[in-house]
Amino acid sequence: MPGAPQVNKAFPPANRVAQPVDGLTEAERVRILAKSAHFAPPPMVDAEGRRDLVGLTREELAEEMAAIGEKPFRAKQLWHWIYHQGVRDFAVMNSIAKPLQAKLAERFTIGRPGISTEQTSTDGTRKWLFKWRDGQEVETVYIPDDDRGALCISTQVGCTLSCSFCHTGTQKLVRNLGTAEIVGQFMAARDSYGEWPTPKGEEGRRVSNIVVMGMGEPLYNYEATARALNIVMDHEGIALSRRRITLSTSGVVPMMDKCGEELGVNLAVSLHAVRDDLRDELVPLNRKYPIAELLAACRRYPGASNARRITFEYVMLRGVNDSEAEAHELVRLLRDLPAKVNLIPFNPWPGSAYQTSTPEAVRRFAAILNDAGYSSPIRRPRGRDILAACGQLKTESERLRRKPAA
Ligand code: SAH
Ligand code: SF4
Repeated sequence: MPGAPQVNKAFPPANRVAQPVDGLTEAERVRILAKSAHFAPPPMVDAEGRRDLVGLTREELAEEMAAIGEKPFRAKQLWHWIYHQGVRDFAVMNSIAKPLQAKLAERFTIGRPGISTEQTSTDGTRKWLFKWRDGQEVETVYIPDDDRGALCISTQVGCTLSCSFCHTGTQKLVRNLGTAEIVGQFMAARDSYGEWPTPKGEEGRRVSNIVVMGMGEPLYNYEATARALNIVMDHEGIALSRRRITLSTSGVVPMMDKCGEELGVNLAVSLHAVRDDLRDELVPLNRKYPIAELLAACRRYPGASNARRITFEYVMLRGVNDSEAEAHELVRLLRDLPAKVNLIPFNPWPGSAYQTSTPEAVRRFAAILNDAGYSSPIRRPRGRDILAACGQLKTESERLRRKPAA
């Protein structure tokens, strides 16, 4: 058939043998955490030497209070004002006496990111370019879905991982975001929608979900990301359940176990290829953690069940990874895994080497997955008029109607 997708001769893939989870993995984890410290953010202190309270854990907040001679319950009060009420001014904290308000204001701030731009698309997608103290910027996008919506947050300025189809990958890593900068993206979005105090329960929230799918690899900035998500999940503050949070990784295997054990959020894995030779090219991290190891880590991921399936992201690149043979191979690879697949039409950027798969190729690919029982929504780019679909900050899923196999 003319134009038929090429079937690579390497089927079935000769995936490398998985490493056992042993001391080697632990050593890797230590190395990854240590490396992340080289890209630390600047201290969260303003020109007057006042420290930002956003981003501190409850324990750290209590330590700050102890350091100025205040009792631990002050930390609890502050937590409520900062993360439940969303206030930024000590003067409105009416459970705290005026002299203490003044003392706090002398030493501390309750910060938010600077906003370089805020744009809302005709389809309701809202995109911010946030600016930090050192002038660095990241993007955050809100993607509405009826009366709720997901906030796509960034964890790094740039990325070390150079995936060949990703625009962020062309920018080298400048630095990690700090806890305050990660939580701050969420808090600023809440400000923008006037969603303070935190609504009771989880229904009826506009900013109802978080997807950690913005700029950067969250598992290479694990500590700040974990601290930020723990703040967001705290019951006495923003109180977002872990079920409403999805973290996307390109496959940092040693940190996936840690993320599952400590945070238990939903996991999305950027797979993009079913053979190691191709994935080595698209997601160079595959050379370190090949497909078999990655899938073994997914099988171990705590809480993965039919109710909480792992999402596999698969960017559709014309003539590169979108053949029917590859769809069948994907089905084989995912066998016995509680999984769904998000097919993401490639979003081109100036200078990118790939083209988006044809709608027909996407439909055929999705039909094969659907017929095998995998939900495989095709993501529809959103906010085109404000360029919110800038590579990874994107989309709302649209379920393909089940199609009979051709
Ligand atoms: N670093 C993490 C999270 C950020 S990228 C990761 O790689 O998973 C979020 C998602 O956007 C990933 O699945 C990524 O592969 C995808 N993506 C990146 N560039 C894209 C592009 N140009 N078109 C479509 N999807 C893209
Ligand atoms: Fe980094 Fe993810 Fe982009 Fe790869 S796809 S370069 S891991 S942000």
